[in-house]
Amino acid sequence: MQRILLKLSGEALMGEADYGIDPKMLKRIALEIREVTRLGMQVAVVIGGGNIFRGAGLARVGMDRVTGDHMGMLATVMNSLAMQDALEALGSYVRVMSAIRINEVCEEYIRRRAVRHLEKGRVTIMAAGTGNPFFTTDTAASLRAIEINADLLLKATKVNGIYSDDPMRNPAATRYSRLTFDQVLADRLDVMDATAIVMCRDNDLPLRVFDLTAPGELLRIVRGEDVGTLVTN
Ligand code: UDP
Repeated sequence: MQRILLKLSGEALMGEADYGIDPKMLKRIALEIREVTRLGMQVAVVIGGGNIFRGAGLARVGMDRVTGDHMGMLATVMNSLAMQDALEALGSYVRVMSAIRINEVCEEYIRRRAVRHLEKGRVTIMAAGTGNPFFTTDTAASLRAIEINADLLLKATKVNGIYSDDPMRNPAATRYSRLTFDQVLADRLDVMDATAIVMCRDNDLPLRVFDLTAPGELLRIVRGEDVGTLVTN
C-alpha cells in the first residue's frame, strides 16, 4: 500500500457542534493525516460539505436542487481550505484542487497534476465533489481514488466499521469485518451511496470503513492492522 484516498464527511469536522467546523477536531484529524504522510504514504483527501449545506436539504425547504448542490459543493471547498490551513499549520505540504474552477482560491482538479502532487508527498485535497449536481462526495471519493490509482479508499465514520443495522439505535446490530461490494448492495447496508459502491466494485478498488472518532485508527490501518470493515470483490 502506497497511496490512499481518505473520505471525510463534513460532519467529521463539526466535533461536538451541530454546524460548521470545530478547530480542535480539525487539528486532531490534521495531526493524524500528518502522521500517515510521515510514514511515506501518499494521501489524497475528499471532504464532504454536510456540516454546512447539502443540496437535498436545501431543496426540501424550497430551493432549486441544482443551486442547492452548487452550494453544497462550495461548502466542500470551504472545508477543504480549512483542512489545508490546519495541515499547513503543522508543517505539511498541501494542495487543494477543486472540480469547480475558482482559481483565485485553489487549483483546479487536473488528474496528472494531482498525481504529481501526491508523488511529491503533498497532501492533495480534492474539493467540490465531482463538480456535478446530484452526486455525493462519497461518489467523488470513489471516482478520484480510481482516477489516481489509489490502493485503498478509506471511509471515515463514527463507528468502527459496517454493521448489520444502525448500532447507535439497535444494540443487537453486529459488525462485519469483511464484506463484498455485492453484499453491501444486496443488503442495502448503510456505507456509501450505491453509485459509489458500484464504482468501487466495477474498478476493483478496496474500501475500508473505520472509526475516525477513535484516535490512532488511521495510523493502525496504514501499518497494516485489520481495523473496521474491509469491502472487496
Ligand atoms: N455535491 C454535489 N455533487 C458532488 C458532490 C457533492 O452536488 O459531486 C453537493 C450535494 O449537494 C451534497 C453536498 O455537495 O449534499 C455536500 O456533499 P455530501 O452530502 O456528500 O457531504 P457529506 O455528507 O460527506 O458531508
